[in-house]
Amino acid sequence: MEKGKKVVTLAYGCQMSERDAETLTEITRQAGYTSSAELESADLVIVNTCCVRESAENKILGKIGELKKLKDNNPNLKIAISGCMVQQPGALERLRKRAPHVDIWAGTHNLHEFAVLLEKAERGVKVAEVWQEPKKILESTPLAERGKLQANVNIMYGCDNFCSYCIVPHVRGRERSRKPEEIVQEIKDLVTGGCREITLLGQNVNSYGKEFSPAYDFADLLRDVDQIPLLSRIRFITSHPKDLSDKLIETVAQGGKLCEHFHLPIQSGSNLILERMNRKYSREYYLSRVRKIRELLPLATLTTDIIVGFPGESEEDFEQTLAVMNLVHYSQAFTFMYSKRSGTLAADMEDQIPLDVKKRRLQRLMSVQNQKSLEWRQQMIGKVYEVLVEGPSKTNPERLNGRTRGNELVVFSGGSEIIGSLVNVRILEAGSWTLLGDIESL
Ligand code: SAM
Ligand code: SF4
Repeated sequence: MEKGKKVVTLAYGCQMSERDAETLTEITRQAGYTSSAELESADLVIVNTCCVRESAENKILGKIGELKKLKDNNPNLKIAISGCMVQQPGALERLRKRAPHVDIWAGTHNLHEFAVLLEKAERGVKVAEVWQEPKKILESTPLAERGKLQANVNIMYGCDNFCSYCIVPHVRGRERSRKPEEIVQEIKDLVTGGCREITLLGQNVNSYGKEFSPAYDFADLLRDVDQIPLLSRIRFITSHPKDLSDKLIETVAQGGKLCEHFHLPIQSGSNLILERMNRKYSREYYLSRVRKIRELLPLATLTTDIIVGFPGESEEDFEQTLAVMNLVHYSQAFTFMYSKRSGTLAADMEDQIPLDVKKRRLQRLMSVQNQKSLEWRQQMIGKVYEVLVEGPSKTNPERLNGRTRGNELVVFSGGSEIIGSLVNVRILEAGSWTLLGDIESL
């Protein structure tokens, strides 16, 4: 293989898509490519796709169209499209017709075989391979780039929950947990390479290990990861409220490296809608989980995901969602308009909500949450927080930035020698999205 070729990898969607994109970049590195951000000089462009919402798909289709122009100017350019969008039932044929300029199509279950597909494409053969099922649990996917301070680590793949709006179980398959010893080893290797903060990834980390015998659950995994020397912080995402056990909350409450941040998607505050969404918890149960967290961890940060305009959502249902936001005080909420996903149960439900109603509800939700987020940051003023120094601030390179244990972004002054360390920062000001502070002690 000719050396010195450049690859640009673009990831759309969630952290799992980002992690898959890292795996693909590492596979291409092993095949002699250097990672680059410049599309114009690339020899290979990989687009790892997302299909959770129609808006993501439209953006990606636009990007694939743009790449055609790039290929017209550079016929040697290879283009690979991978991930969730390609994995949707019937999608491959449709996409291939629409984008004949693409050289490689790969689904979510065969990413680890990408080197084989790449080698064929380099010989001028167009390849499309999508496995219907994963053939094994992927234990040792190539590591994320070494030397990074933070890394995402898959602890499980797939999802068994089948929320009625969601395409994820259809494109990522059934839930399967990685072996704890493999996860711990991957993290140790990352730490040896300089990593200090890891985020454990799963569509529902709270059901990690449910197939294991003898019993070993997510709280057990957290305890084992907590023992890894030199690792400073452990985060995890996403916690499905129905499986958030007392044991897990108690484990996080023991502190240490475990960051007291729960991303606990509520999706809706109305029991009627939660039922139609097949979320398997009620608003009351959700709030009881929040109370338990606040009881053991009064300073814990809570974030959430909310969908507005789910089929059949009335004004009253929507008001109940707003009411939960007022009760819980999320530091941040990821808010979405319901997007019809073909193949899911909700796509065939009656009472689809008109776009203008969805837009209006989203605007209202966002303005309530913006106010709540600001209030959350304002109550931090004057207090001291542990911050992991990440590097120069993107908005002001003269200053540094980092995150609190609750995942809030803080900007402060300091020298580059403290990048990678934990410092105590007193919060002085709350901006619209960030906090400004001063280092109290190293
Ligand atoms: N597994 C995670 C969970 O249960 O919360 C979330 C995974 S999903 C990639 C991220 C978020 O996208 C969901 O929490 C939901 O709010 C949103 N989402 C999923 N399907 C959607 C749809 N059809 N329309 C709008 N938002 C959607
Ligand atoms: Fe989608 Fe629900 Fe699974 Fe999350 S838990 S990935 S929202 S089906």
